[in-house]
Amino acid sequence: MSVSSAKSQHPIRSTRSERLLVLGSLLLVIAILSIVAFLLIRERANAELSAARAANNIVQLIDADVLRNVELYDVSLLGLIAASQREDLKSVSPAIRHLAYFDRATAAPYKGNILLLDNKGDVIADSASVEPRQGNYADREFFQSHVDNPDPGMFISPPFRARSPEQDWRISFSRRVNGPHGEFLGVAEAAMRLSYFDQLFNSLNIGRDSTVNLISKDGTLLAQQPQLAEELIGKNFSHRPNFQRIVKEGNGSFTSLSSRYQEKRLYTFSKVGNLPLIVIVALSSDEVFAAWKRTAVVVSFATIALCVSLLWLTWLLCRELRRRQSAEHELAQLAATDPLTGLANRRSLDQALHHEWFRAQRSGLPLSVLMIDVDHFKAYNDRHGHQGGDDALRWVAKVISTHVRRPADLVARYGGEEFSVILAETDSVGAQQIADTIRAAVEQLPLVGDDASPITVSIGISTWTTASDISLEQLLYRADKALYQAKESGRNRVVAAD
Ligand code: GH3
Ligand code: MG
Ligand code: MG
Repeated sequence: MSVSSAKSQHPIRSTRSERLLVLGSLLLVIAILSIVAFLLIRERANAELSAARAANNIVQLIDADVLRNVELYDVSLLGLIAASQREDLKSVSPAIRHLAYFDRATAAPYKGNILLLDNKGDVIADSASVEPRQGNYADREFFQSHVDNPDPGMFISPPFRARSPEQDWRISFSRRVNGPHGEFLGVAEAAMRLSYFDQLFNSLNIGRDSTVNLISKDGTLLAQQPQLAEELIGKNFSHRPNFQRIVKEGNGSFTSLSSRYQEKRLYTFSKVGNLPLIVIVALSSDEVFAAWKRTAVVVSFATIALCVSLLWLTWLLCRELRRRQSAEHELAQLAATDPLTGLANRRSLDQALHHEWFRAQRSGLPLSVLMIDVDHFKAYNDRHGHQGGDDALRWVAKVISTHVRRPADLVARYGGEEFSVILAETDSVGAQQIADTIRAAVEQLPLVGDDASPITVSIGISTWTTASDISLEQLLYRADKALYQAKESGRNRVVAAD
C-alpha cells in the first residue's frame, strides 16, 4: 500500500446510523403526511356529506309540503264530484250550489281555478265565479286521458302555461266523474300555480350561489330560488348530462361540474311525491367546502412546516454525525501514521502483518517481508545534523513507496532508520526484484553536501510459502537475520533468507 492509500483506508461513507436516521425521519414525514392527508380527505367527505344531508332535508321538506297540498286539492276534487252528483243541489240557487261545490278548502293560496267539465269538455261549474266561464277543455291532455281511462284515480298533468293573461306555469290535478254505471260524465280539474314553489323556496336559507330548483320530468325549469336569470324559467334542460343523471336516479346526490356556471356543484334531488316534478338543490362547491378549505390551508401549512423542520433537524444531526465521524477518522489516521515520513507506523504494520499472514494461510499464496535499514546512518546524522537525517529518511521513504505499488502491499516505518515492506502474494523471486530496485533507487539519490558516497540501504528478505511451514515470528526473525547478513557482508545489498 502506498503512502497516500494508507490514509484512505477508511473513506468517509454514510454510516448505518446516519442511514437509519434519514430513513426514520423520512418514514416519520411520510406517516405525518399520510395521516394529515387522510384526515383532510375524511373532513372533506364529511363536509360534503353534511351539506348533502342539509340539502336532502330541504328536499324532503318541500316534498312533504307539496304532498300535503296535493291531498288538499284531491279533497277539493272529491268534494266537487260528490256535490255534483247530489240531486238535491240541482234545485237550489246557483249561488248556494257554487258554495257547496267549492267549499273553503278551495281557498288555499296559489290555487288556480277549479273547474267541473261535462263529458264534452264544456265548463259547467267554475270556482272563480257563480256563472261558469265559457270554454271547452276537450283538447287538453288530462281530459283525453280521462275519456280513455275508466280508472277514477287522480291524473296529474305535465306543467303547462296558463291561458290566463299571466301565462304563469301551472300543473293540474284532475279526476274522472263517473255515472252510476261507470259511464263518463265529465272531469273535475284543479290547477296549482307553480309560483307556490317560489314562496316555498323563498323561506329556505341555502346560502349564496346555491339554488333550489323545480324541474318537470321532461326537463323544463319551472321555478328557481334565488332566481339566477329570468329567461331560465320555462327553458328545457333535458339535454344536460346532469339533468339526465338526475332523472335516471330519481333521488340522491352527486357533485358535478355545472355546465352553466363552470364550477362544481353539489346536486341533491328528489321526485316530488308522485308528481312529474323534481326538486333539485344545487349547492355551490365553493360554499360547501369553504370552511374545510380554510382548515385545509392552515393544517397543510402547519404540517409542511413541521415536516421541513423535522428534515432540517435530521440534516443537522447527520452533519454533526459526519463531523464527529471524520474527526474520529482523522484521529485514527494519526494513530496509524508515522508523522515524519507519512508512512504507516509500527502499529499499522503489526495489524497489516497479522491480516496478511492469515490471508496467506487461507489462500496458500506466498507472503514476503522486506526489512530495510539505512547504512551508516549514525554517521550521516553526525555529518548533516538531525534535521538533515530526517530529510534523508523522508527521501528513502519516498523511494520505497514509489517502488511498492500494489494495493495489498504496505510500506511502514519500523522505527529509527528502519523500514518494513509487506509484499502480499509475492514469492521470493518477486520480493528479490523489488528489493533490488529499491536498493538501486536509494543509491541513485543525489549526493548531499560534500558527501563522497550516496545514501544506501541494506535489505533482508524473508518469504513464507506453503512449503516453508514457519510461524509469523520466524518469518520476521528471518528477515532480520537476512538484514544482519547484508550488513555483515558489506552493506548496500540485498540478502534473502535461505
Ligand atoms: P548500520 O549501517 O549498521 O545500520 O549503522 P547505523 O549507524 O545506521 O546504525 P545505528 O543503529 O548504530 O544507528 C542508527 C541511527 O539512526 C541512530 C540515530 O541517530 C539515527 N536515527 C534513528 N531515528 C532517527 C530519526 O528519526 N531521525 C534522525 N535524524 N536520525 C535517526
Ligand atoms: Mg538500525
Ligand atoms: Mg542503520
